[in-house]
Amino acid sequence: VSRARTALLAVDVQRDFLPGGSLAVSDGEAVVAPLRALAAEVALVVATRDFHPPHHCSFIERGGPWPAHCVIGTSGAAIHPGIDSIADLIVSKGTDPDVEAYSGFDGTGLAGMLRSAGVERIVVGGLATDYCVRATSLAARSEGFDTEVVLEAIRAVEAQPGDGSRAVEEMRRAGVTFRDTARDGSSVTAS
Ligand SMILES: [Zn+2]
Repeated sequence: VSRARTALLAVDVQRDFLPGGSLAVSDGEAVVAPLRALAAEVALVVATRDFHPPHHCSFIERGGPWPAHCVIGTSGAAIHPGIDSIADLIVSKGTDPDVEAYSGFDGTGLAGMLRSAGVERIVVGGLATDYCVRATSLAARSEGFDTEVVLEAIRAVEAQPGDGSRAVEEMRRAGVTFRDTARDGSSVTAS
């Protein structure tokens, strides 16, 4: 599949998921440089973001599993500037106060938009391996896209030790492929 038919999904590289944020992923900022390298391999860069109203159902105050995070209008919802600056499109999810959405395809219209743009193949990185990267990659496969996750461009929450590797195995069983790193720019398929 050519570069012209490939999109990069940069999942939830947001301040609240980075060190210092309310739901920080250990070493989360390490995904930024690989994602920026991967952008050279694709025709379209899509950044997804968690974008919750206050009192979202996933927050502890409402019986959910997570501290408040990525609340609309707060700095914690901001996409890392290194990703924001390369994104062609930003997709917001979890915007309904009563509905959780881990996948960037969930209620966003993303699949139709990608198909309209001629995208057949999706490269995925971002945060976190065991939640939104997992859900987004599985959904991409279900939508019929060739889906490849780049291991140096993801980090896991690991609420339970091993969650990251279990998520990788689950994605692999669903037909998601994996590679370790971004390619050298010189080997990118001409479009
Ligand atoms: Zn969330």
